Amino acid sequence: MSSPEKEHKWFIEQTSPGTAHMFAIKDYLVATRTPYQQVEIVDTYFFGRMLFLDGKVQSAELDEQIYHEALVHPAMLMHEEPRRVLVIGGGEGATLREVLRHPTVEQAVMVDIDRDVVALCKEYLPQWHRGSFDDPRVKLLHQDARKFLEENEAHYDVMIIDLPEPVEEGPARRLFTWQFYSLVKERLNAGGIMALQAGDFSLPFLEAHSAIYNTIKQVMPDLHSYSAFIPSFNSDWSFIVASKDSTIGAFEANEIDRRAGERHLALDYYASETHRRMFAIPRNIRKRRNAETTIIDDDRLLTIY
Ligand code: SAM
Repeated sequence: MSSPEKEHKWFIEQTSPGTAHMFAIKDYLVATRTPYQQVEIVDTYFFGRMLFLDGKVQSAELDEQIYHEALVHPAMLMHEEPRRVLVIGGGEGATLREVLRHPTVEQAVMVDIDRDVVALCKEYLPQWHRGSFDDPRVKLLHQDARKFLEENEAHYDVMIIDLPEPVEEGPARRLFTWQFYSLVKERLNAGGIMALQAGDFSLPFLEAHSAIYNTIKQVMPDLHSYSAFIPSFNSDWSFIVASKDSTIGAFEANEIDRRAGERHLALDYYASETHRRMFAIPRNIRKRRNAETTIIDDDRLLTIY
């Protein structure tokens, strides 16, 4: 990466009322408002190209591989034979890209509410999707994913939920409630597994993760929090994987390398060794998370800053 001049502009992502991340801007490529959200695509000096929605970083060229492998492969490898997969959100096409690496996949349906975001990602983020939208196994739909699940009875082996955080007025807020997770469970096949990104996993910011975890637990009690450090998020970022029929509780980390080998996956970040690190949760985080009593409800939505 080249270094910024002394005088340069900064993109400031405010992460709480008292904290922010700053990225030195090389080139400002896109700033537009779609019917659903504010979209910005920026070339930064350190992290390369970055996508922001409603001012929040979604992914960066330098480390999107870590984020997308961490989101997709635990659920996909915990399932013995994922054939039908649903991606909820996932605008950049990188979640889809990682799903399609599994030769077991016969169909991957992606439902992203925002046609404009996906069109911009197709044009500006080719390193993310790498042609995944053109794979004949893919069906791409533009609709609210909750409405889609309510109106369609199709079932899936794995669902990967790659939504932005539930910011005020954002399009994803009704997809973090127990009502939504019940619907997800209904639309999973027997033995089905879901995974999602679930917010910052560092202690001062743990409230959202804890509330999401406790909400899913009411519906699918066989669940795990895990995390990966994402440099462009400047944080240990959390994910949750949960199963419909309690099939992942006793899952052995050694299985990851064996199944990845069987599926001929040459992964960059995720492996049995990485799995052990990602699923090892510090005691203070576990304690705080397990003490959470909030259940996110359609009448009491979670809002993060
Ligand atoms: N990696 C991300 C992060 O860190 O938050 C999320 C990535 S992806 C860009 C999120 C996508 O979810 C966006 O393209 C957005 O349009 C989509 N989305 C938001 N609300 C949605 C909804 N209700 N139904 C379907 N897709 C939705």
